Amino acid sequence: MTRLARPTDGDPSTLYRAFETLSGLEGLDLLSKSMLEVLPTRVVTVSSFGAESAVLLDLVARVDPDAPVYFIDTGMHFPETLAYRDLLIDRLRLTNVINLGPDGQERAAEDPEDLLHRSDIDGCCDLRKVRPLDRALAGAPAWISGRKRFQGGARTTLQSVEWEETPEGGRRLKLNPLASWREADIDAYFDNYALPRHPLWEDGYPSVGCAPCTAKPDPDATDRRAGRWAGLGKTECGIHNRRKPATSPIA
Ligand code: SF4
Repeated sequence: MTRLARPTDGDPSTLYRAFETLSGLEGLDLLSKSMLEVLPTRVVTVSSFGAESAVLLDLVARVDPDAPVYFIDTGMHFPETLAYRDLLIDRLRLTNVINLGPDGQERAAEDPEDLLHRSDIDGCCDLRKVRPLDRALAGAPAWISGRKRFQGGARTTLQSVEWEETPEGGRRLKLNPLASWREADIDAYFDNYALPRHPLWEDGYPSVGCAPCTAKPDPDATDRRAGRWAGLGKTECGIHNRRKPATSPIA
């Protein structure tokens, strides 16, 4: 978990051609085309190593097990998630999983007792997730996420290839190879490839985030993310909130 492949800035015209080439592709086709042909060595996968993460990671590993994968280690994960990360690294032979985390000085100044999540969940997510990922993706032309439309909320209109605004006001591509996959497709993939489930999935957690902000939902809940920030009116941590419509031109 040490080799860091730093993506480099792509010039706008190259990036726009990449958008046109990749649009319409999904799943393994999108991963192969982007990782091996259109954006080789420059596209990064971001994974929570949560309840459904093994599917995307297995597909990425089939294309290139040496491709960089970012895991945002907030310092607040369940120990089961950290163990599952290590299990999947071993099982899928991923060689380039990189742990990101909050800046030490910012954490000491803003959340010295690790209790910020009790008073300011948006501030806590910004400190522990959004800023670390922003720093790691600086200059990256594209990244890969495992979101699906069936997850609801803002994700219902997800496209497989979309633009994202960077903190600097530029644009980068965001690839969602599983955007159109249904719950049944995810479950079938786990079964077909005998992928290990997250230990907490086995215990009734259909979605797993940080320990203080993840509850076991009602077994009859139809929303798999119902246990995330339950009752707090929050559905996303913030790392996905910069999404622009897929037809946006490059700034
Ligand atoms: S999910 Fe909860 S604990 Fe994790 S970073 Fe966000 S507010 Fe903090």
